[in-house]
Amino acid sequence: MGSLTNFTERTVEYAKFLNDFKQLLKDNSLKFTIQREVILEMLYNSDEHLTPEGLHHLIQEKHPDLNTGIATVYRTLSLLEDSEMVTSLSFGAQGKKYELGAKDHHDHIICTKCGSISEFVDEEIESRQKKIAEELGFIMQEHSMQIYGICKACQTKK
Ligand SMILES: [Zn+2]
Ligand SMILES: [Zn+2]
Repeated sequence: MGSLTNFTERTVEYAKFLNDFKQLLKDNSLKFTIQREVILEMLYNSDEHLTPEGLHHLIQEKHPDLNTGIATVYRTLSLLEDSEMVTSLSFGAQGKKYELGAKDHHDHIICTKCGSISEFVDEEIESRQKKIAEELGFIMQEHSMQIYGICKACQTKK
């Protein structure tokens, strides 16, 4: 079993991330605003997997003066996801959670009751997947692996 932890290693500098974001906005004829910058900064610095609502809440708490609308958060997230700067995990009816795309590779285990997410890496799983791709004549580019279940805390709850 590999490590079970949050993968805080960023594989891109914030300055580069910000630049890519500015370019992305330009390409989509959108303005670079302080609200959008704050969304980006929060995403970059968070080790959580955030729902749009959770992210919005954090921003409102930290920058109440900015009046960042939830619609701006949704729109910015989907823009970032389309360009693979952030990735999302869906956890059933509860929706989607987002994290920075530029983190060291890891897989996820997700509780379908409370939506909690843990990250893990298991070298055996990693190499098996490469082998499977090879055996099927593929060169593997990427994969995502999610395990869905019920976490310990939820098992003990009635
Ligand atoms: Zn993996
Ligand atoms: Zn993750």
